[in-house]
Amino acid sequence: MSDYYETLGVARDASQDQIKKAYRRLARELHPDVAGPDAEDRFKDVSRAYEVLSHPDKRQQYDLGSDPSAPGGGQGGGFGFQDIFETFFGGGAQQSGPVPRSRRGQDALVRLDVELAEATFGARRELQVDTAVVCGTCSGSCCAPGTSPRTCETCHGRGTVQRVARSFLGQVMTTQPCAACQGFGTVIPEPCPECSGEGRVRSRRTITVNVPAGVDTGTRIKLTSQGEVGPGGGPAGDLYVEIRERNHETFVRRGDDLHCTLQVPMTAAALGTVLQLETLDGEQEVDLRPGTQPGQVITLKGLGVGHLHGGGRGDLDVHVEIQVPTGLDEEQEELLRSLARARGEERPEPRLSAAHPSVFGRLRDKFAGRQG
Ligand SMILES: [Zn+2]
Ligand SMILES: [Zn+2]
Repeated sequence: MSDYYETLGVARDASQDQIKKAYRRLARELHPDVAGPDAEDRFKDVSRAYEVLSHPDKRQQYDLGSDPSAPGGGQGGGFGFQDIFETFFGGGAQQSGPVPRSRRGQDALVRLDVELAEATFGARRELQVDTAVVCGTCSGSCCAPGTSPRTCETCHGRGTVQRVARSFLGQVMTTQPCAACQGFGTVIPEPCPECSGEGRVRSRRTITVNVPAGVDTGTRIKLTSQGEVGPGGGPAGDLYVEIRERNHETFVRRGDDLHCTLQVPMTAAALGTVLQLETLDGEQEVDLRPGTQPGQVITLKGLGVGHLHGGGRGDLDVHVEIQVPTGLDEEQEELLRSLARARGEERPEPRLSAAHPSVFGRLRDKFAGRQG
């Protein structure tokens, strides 16, 4: 927070009259017509200091350590800083000639939902967008066919008018946009009936978007000059397509890697087997080694999502979940009992170890959350 007393060059116990005098002196000194545009920042500082210190309630607030002119600070009404500033600069002081009727349009944002497979391999998608386009009737001139703009009689085409304003600083010459032509310097005698003289109309059109591999939720694709056409048929802004990736029922994405859970019977995990797994790349063979343990991860290299920048793809991590048989019939139970006998596991010794939440455990919790 800047020291407003120092800015105005007054003591902390200065009277309202002293503050006012100090401000008048500085404002004359720093007025842009005298001191040039370099002094503009100082002038703003001085005006802000005066705005606070000239109001007893704001001054008290400031003395207590908070800045009432800061964003979100108390705005005590009265003559605001912006008002003071505009008294001197007239709001449009920088403006030297008529403003062009045609201006660049705004950027536009549309959202596009993509499937995981589209994010993985890239896709071409058609998208409907609703933006302003150049009016076909007047081609952006804003005039009814056969008519043209006329020079404004009030400002003679300058777009600005000068006014003498009286303030406590004396007479101040201000330059303001011409009200008759809104600063354009020309008036349109007969506006185009199609666009009401706007030079643009709203239109729905279909565009094709190339969605590159590797996009993720939040990725924005920029389509240059596909946004809103500006007033007066001005050049179009850009169009941003924001990607939102739909959740996949099997695969969970982390970065460019995919994860899934594979449930295998205890016997298959113990004996080993080859499984066919349906991936985004079609059926893939997964080699389950004999003695596969719960939580073991089988990595299928390069079957993840394509990298957005640079080639290559992430991996597909298959997390093995082992299903212990339930509902054994008599024969199965006897088979398992004889296996336990053969392995000396009828009365296993308790073996405790510290719990360590594995990465898989955390992931599995997320799967569980997703799949209910
Ligand atoms: Zn038109
Ligand atoms: Zn005018």
